[in-house]
Amino acid sequence: MSYLVLARKYRSRDFEALVGQEHVVKALTNALTQQRLHHAYLFTGTRGVGKTSVSRILAKALNCTGPDGTGGITAHPCGVCDACRDIDSGRFVDYVELDAASNRGVEEISQLLDQAVYKPVVGRFKVYLIDEVHMLSNTAFNAMLKTLEEPPEYLKFVLATTDPQKVPPTVLSRCLQFNLRPMAPQTVQEHLSTVLAAEKIEAEPGALRLLARGARGSMRDALSLTDQAIAFGAGSLTEAGVRQMLGAVDRSHAVRLVEALAAGQGAEVIAAVDGLRSLGLSATGTLEEMAALLQQMAVLQAVPDALDESDPDAPTAARLAGLLAPDETQFLYSIVLHGRAELGLAPDEYSGLVMVLLRMLAFRPGGAGTSPQRAAAPAAAKPVAAPVMSKPVVAAAPVRPAVVTPAPVSRASAPAASEPPPWVDVPYEDEAPVAPVAVREPEPVRPPVATFTPTPLGDRWAQVVGQMNEAASIGALVRELAMQSQCLSIDESAKPPVWRLRVERETLRAPAQRDKLQAALSDLLQHAVQIEVEAGVASDTPAQRATAERTRRQNEAEQIIHNDPLVQALMQQFKTARIVPGSVKPH
Ligand SMILES: [Zn+2]
Repeated sequence: MSYLVLARKYRSRDFEALVGQEHVVKALTNALTQQRLHHAYLFTGTRGVGKTSVSRILAKALNCTGPDGTGGITAHPCGVCDACRDIDSGRFVDYVELDAASNRGVEEISQLLDQAVYKPVVGRFKVYLIDEVHMLSNTAFNAMLKTLEEPPEYLKFVLATTDPQKVPPTVLSRCLQFNLRPMAPQTVQEHLSTVLAAEKIEAEPGALRLLARGARGSMRDALSLTDQAIAFGAGSLTEAGVRQMLGAVDRSHAVRLVEALAAGQGAEVIAAVDGLRSLGLSATGTLEEMAALLQQMAVLQAVPDALDESDPDAPTAARLAGLLAPDETQFLYSIVLHGRAELGLAPDEYSGLVMVLLRMLAFRPGGAGTSPQRAAAPAAAKPVAAPVMSKPVVAAAPVRPAVVTPAPVSRASAPAASEPPPWVDVPYEDEAPVAPVAVREPEPVRPPVATFTPTPLGDRWAQVVGQMNEAASIGALVRELAMQSQCLSIDESAKPPVWRLRVERETLRAPAQRDKLQAALSDLLQHAVQIEVEAGVASDTPAQRATAERTRRQNEAEQIIHNDPLVQALMQQFKTARIVPGSVKPH
């Protein structure tokens, strides 16, 4: 059987058939109807969006003579007159297509322009299509410019390019420019099903969805992929067949991975990758499928009504959309995209894939379950003291293994099976009390336990020491005494009032230091005080508080990740993204 490839057979032959480019069609149709024609058009857009098709339709519109040979310029070329048929079949002498990618020199252009001085042989207009015009050399551009400035009235230029940035402004300014849009997968899919219906070829909707996605906005690619798929599937189009042909990874694998990531289950992530490896599925395909899934989830999170009922994957995406916060979905998506690029650099693509996935766990908001051990922590370890800790400190913990707070344990234990992960700010209906997620409590941030334990007089002491430091009323040694002391009691009833301090270092307890501190404090408070210093381990000193504060600052995300340029890039890209929500809040 004679077989014309779909991409050629179903090339749009009139403006009405030009799928997905309504804005261009409307402008050109109006211009043709009103006979207000420009002498040069520039069509921009990625490959396969229909630039050549528009050019041919335009040439037909200008030269069509109608079925009875009496028609004039029309927005609806008849398709049956000699001009229409000859242009469609590439035999029309007055329509010339020049591919600048292979004819970039001044000679080819000069030859073409030499022909321009002669009137059209059979048509009303000569139409020159220069495809990939940005590839022309500068001298070629210059040669063209003169004709472009003062073209004979029977000559129309159609320039097409995928890269308008490389077209000199002198040329751009002489053209009417139209941007042809890449086509949405949905549009491509609809067109494919029309085409296949016309071809009487059975196709599973899932197969068409994969083809449409694989075409990346190019209708021509979609049609040639479909051709290949028909050959591959010996005449039928099944989802499994197309998936195999495209090396695409089944949606269920992506779903499993996103679920594991949402639940913070490192072990499950590794197991899923092992599964992919043993099935021989590609890591790139996996990340692509994850990207598609995350994109769908993000849309549903932003616009829940956007659910496409005809898409069998949609309900799953909707369910997963509920597992992650929108900003986290964005964050994972970005890691997936960047990860794809780095797969080639990894020792092998599966280890690359594992690293990309583990990165998502490591930098996941909430951060619990960053390691398999944590993820595996028994669910029985339900929070004991957790809610006391306020969120920022807790959230910052996972990226700093050194600082251990009780809270992460409870958080890590939370994501059991199908529960929504702990960082999701969904109101818990019946089990609210546990929710460590709960909104930030108003109480002040407590730095990690290791540093200091707040005491009743800690704030007061830190305050007066701060004031003495500011007033520079104390020297270095006395300052050290003040900073290293914990205030145990203040006896206001005594005369003068007695401040009891405890300090560990013996050298600081010398009477001379104590007296100076006493004088400075009396000065500050504007009444006499007595200071008594006892030996012992201090647990709430201004110095410890300062350290805790410094630690807290250091823990802010930007600093934690300063060694990871990739994450840095991610963070730059997502100004609002937090590695750990709450940890980067200014206080
Ligand atoms: Zn015609």
